[in-house]
Amino acid sequence: MSNERPTLGIVVPCYNEEAVIRETITQLSGVLKALMEEGLVSRASFLMFVNDGSRDRTWELIAESQKSNPLVSGLKLSGNVGHQNALLAGLMTAKEHADCVISIDADLQDDVKAIREFVIKYSVEGCEIVYGVRQSRKTDTFFKRTTAQGFYRFMERMGVKVTYNHADYRLMSKRALNELERFKEVNLFLRGIVPMIGFKTGIVFYDRLDRFAGESKYPLPKMLAFAFEGITSLSVRPIRLVTMMGFGLSLVSLAAVIYAVASKLLGNTVSGWTSLILSVWFLGGVQLLSLGLIGEYVGKIYKEVKRRPLYIVETLLMPDTLKQAEVE
Ligand code: UDP
Ligand code: MG
Repeated sequence: MSNERPTLGIVVPCYNEEAVIRETITQLSGVLKALMEEGLVSRASFLMFVNDGSRDRTWELIAESQKSNPLVSGLKLSGNVGHQNALLAGLMTAKEHADCVISIDADLQDDVKAIREFVIKYSVEGCEIVYGVRQSRKTDTFFKRTTAQGFYRFMERMGVKVTYNHADYRLMSKRALNELERFKEVNLFLRGIVPMIGFKTGIVFYDRLDRFAGESKYPLPKMLAFAFEGITSLSVRPIRLVTMMGFGLSLVSLAAVIYAVASKLLGNTVSGWTSLILSVWFLGGVQLLSLGLIGEYVGKIYKEVKRRPLYIVETLLMPDTLKQAEVE
């Protein structure tokens, strides 16, 4: 890294966050200002709030504070594209104006104090990717904790490299983001893709806090869908498991055939409506499951070949100083 102070961009995806957004802006501005005063980041550093098609007043609040707070910029997407895509929109826009970018949720669950350590890892130790890892999850429910652990373990079994207890609180250098841009996948699961970039990485531990206000946008069904997306977009091992299951079942049925033929030859008529009906149902179930799984991958391929844009930017509000820098 150069000796000059790096310009830091902090990207915050926001969906229906009117209850917290003001507090988030205040807290992040405080952190950023302190970093500027300490000389850790340049004066051109900024916060970028991405409005992911909120249906409440989130965007109005962002636009309002953008007028009075010179650190704030706002990126308005044309509709709701989901957390991962909104995050990507922010990262790709912010990297054009920054040397490194930190992504953080709008709800202040990720301790903002860690930002300073992220920056130090970047500028002193030269880490191009720094993961924020939750030291404790005391504030998460027992249920969320156990399902999350199960998820990480399952991902690993399925051959996907993930960092335990790391969500999307991380720093990436401009260089790492430029590489991320080359991953052209439509089925985006950033947590699984970022480790593939390589480069020097670091970890910062922090405590996961309670949501400041508002409610989680990830209820259980959405969480499961997210986990499923993550696995199927990064690994084909589930399909291989299905193949192996098919192979196993074929062996079993071969044994059953031998048994049936042998008892026929020995003159015992095969009695067994129960076994028959059970195997019909069982095999039917397994086949439907396998077909569904394969369909899932076909659907993914379908989405990938269409190559639709992941997000559409409607408005970008930036402080004049930054716009100026862009023109020069
Ligand atoms: N979010 C978003 N688009 C969505 C859903 C969520 O941009 O469609 C944002 C949300 O505003 C928050 C972050 O993604 O900043 C994480 O969401 P949330 O806190 O609800 O998830 P949890 O922490 O409960 O997993
Ligand atoms: Mg949250």
